[in-house]
Amino acid sequence: MPVNAMGVAMLEHLKANNRAWAERKVAADAGFFKRLEGQQAPQYLWIGCSDSRVPANEIVDLDPGELFVHRNVANLAPPQDANYLSVLQFAVDVIKVKHVMVVGHYGCGGVAAAIDGKRRGLVDHWLHPIREVYHEHRHELQAIAEDGKMHNRLCELNVIRQVKNVASDVFIQEAWARGQAVSVHGWVYSLGTGLVNDLDVTVTNMDDFEKLG
Ligand code: ZN
Repeated sequence: MPVNAMGVAMLEHLKANNRAWAERKVAADAGFFKRLEGQQAPQYLWIGCSDSRVPANEIVDLDPGELFVHRNVANLAPPQDANYLSVLQFAVDVIKVKHVMVVGHYGCGGVAAAIDGKRRGLVDHWLHPIREVYHEHRHELQAIAEDGKMHNRLCELNVIRQVKNVASDVFIQEAWARGQAVSVHGWVYSLGTGLVNDLDVTVTNMDDFEKLG
């Protein structure tokens, strides 16, 4: 691997990958990048986990320009997080996405770390909302004998909580109030099969939101 004078790898293999990828795109569609240069008009906002095994565009087979993406550890949508809120507002108010998908994944290390009792530092605070979800559903969760199954259920409950966070946000509720169609969906991705499980908690208006409890 080529290195600079300081002995630092200059990631030439990734740059080569990039050139080959761009060439393939142009070979298949000569105007591809030129069209995207002007503006983006994605219909979807993906709120997912940072986990390298859950690449947003690839999973749903969408091209650049088709998916607006926000990722963080354990796919959280905390109502005080300026990063998430900025993404949500831009997606809803400016891009006017039609769908927001909160996408968790089974076997999420962030979800596991939230409840394993070990101290890691700052991330313990970031993961605090998952401990709240665990506490709220502790009777259901503690009744699940198998650790892996309990953990996967917590991944689902975390997604449902984040769907509620998104749907209760003023940016979404103001969009509904002015007649703008935007739905919030909850999915969990399986690392083992590559398939998405729709938790069927889609919220499209205030009535759906009330029903979600
Ligand atoms: Zn994860």
